[in-house]
Amino acid sequence: MNQFQSEGKAKFQVGEAFYNPRGEIVRDLGVLAATVYKQEQGQLRVLEAMAGTGVRSLRYYLEAQADFVWVNEGNHQLNQLLSTNLDGSILESDYRLTHLDAHRVFFDCFNRRDYYDLVDVDCFGTASPYLSTMLWATKIGGLMYLTSTDGRTLAGRVPAKSLQAYGAYPRSHPALQEQALRLIIGSVAQQAGSKNLGIEPIWAYFAGETYRLMFRLLPQINLSASNYGFLGYCHNCGDYQVINWQQLGKASCSCDRPSLVISGAMWLGSLHNSEYLQAMQTLASQWQWQKVVKLLSTMIAEADLPPYFFTLQEIGKRGKLDLPPKVKIIAALQEQGFLASSSHINPEAIKTNANIHTCIAIAKELAQKIKQKS
Ligand SMILES: [Zn+2]
Repeated sequence: MNQFQSEGKAKFQVGEAFYNPRGEIVRDLGVLAATVYKQEQGQLRVLEAMAGTGVRSLRYYLEAQADFVWVNEGNHQLNQLLSTNLDGSILESDYRLTHLDAHRVFFDCFNRRDYYDLVDVDCFGTASPYLSTMLWATKIGGLMYLTSTDGRTLAGRVPAKSLQAYGAYPRSHPALQEQALRLIIGSVAQQAGSKNLGIEPIWAYFAGETYRLMFRLLPQINLSASNYGFLGYCHNCGDYQVINWQQLGKASCSCDRPSLVISGAMWLGSLHNSEYLQAMQTLASQWQWQKVVKLLSTMIAEADLPPYFFTLQEIGKRGKLDLPPKVKIIAALQEQGFLASSSHINPEAIKTNANIHTCIAIAKELAQKIKQKS
């Protein structure tokens, strides 16, 4: 007899399926977003395309009060396990279990004009084949929750592969994981644009080598030259710059050295929808999910900052200084009128609209003050 696992309100067996207990917080985020959606829209029909143990579907049903879940798992050998897991917790009339290729499921929805409020695509490996097809199954205004573990390609270690998968060329720099999230968002936005639709990221989250993004499908195109373009990084001075399509040929760094590398095209707009995250955070504090409340605070603060971060290590190394605490640098930047926050991606990094030279100058000043006091 298999042992039962529990997570949130779900009780389930794992058997031969893949289940990572450390992914609980990203499933918590999914449940919160789904709950906010249900409160907003009054209904919630979920399609889980790659179900594994079925834990996500169980949690959407039991915690986010989903009205119906279509649970699909490509591997037929998990049928018994999934049947057992779902039967115990979901009314028979409230779910459907299939074992089809995910693309077929998406096109079946389209064919029957049966669009879902939340489409969950929990990929192991690259998500790139699904970036366009998941759009076909999603209701306008609905949500799509995407997982990608395609780290090597996304981080720019094999840029030619990234070009094939995402239509974008990533170069190496210290804010790689944020760049990877932006490559995925950009690619989905472009796919939606080709269908006369738009998408916005509700959030884009990186942890544990995995990228998790929640999108909302919008009724009109929102991709434009101002939110879809390029990111420059100077290997000489460590500064970043956003480069739009018209400036591409003239791009150079203010330090005047030929050390600028350019990545893209990618999403340059907000990383998260802070209003939506605030609604999720209100729920999370009601439910006393303290860890999630804290994470959401960081994400809300960074949502609209420029598309990169400076690591403390770079500030310290380039300024040749003993680093003052991160919170003090952030506070000093804010006092001087800059926007500044932590990054959820790297706890040892700062997001700000100040350039690296300003960050170094401010950190130096702080370091001196600390030295004088001691
Ligand atoms: Zn430079």
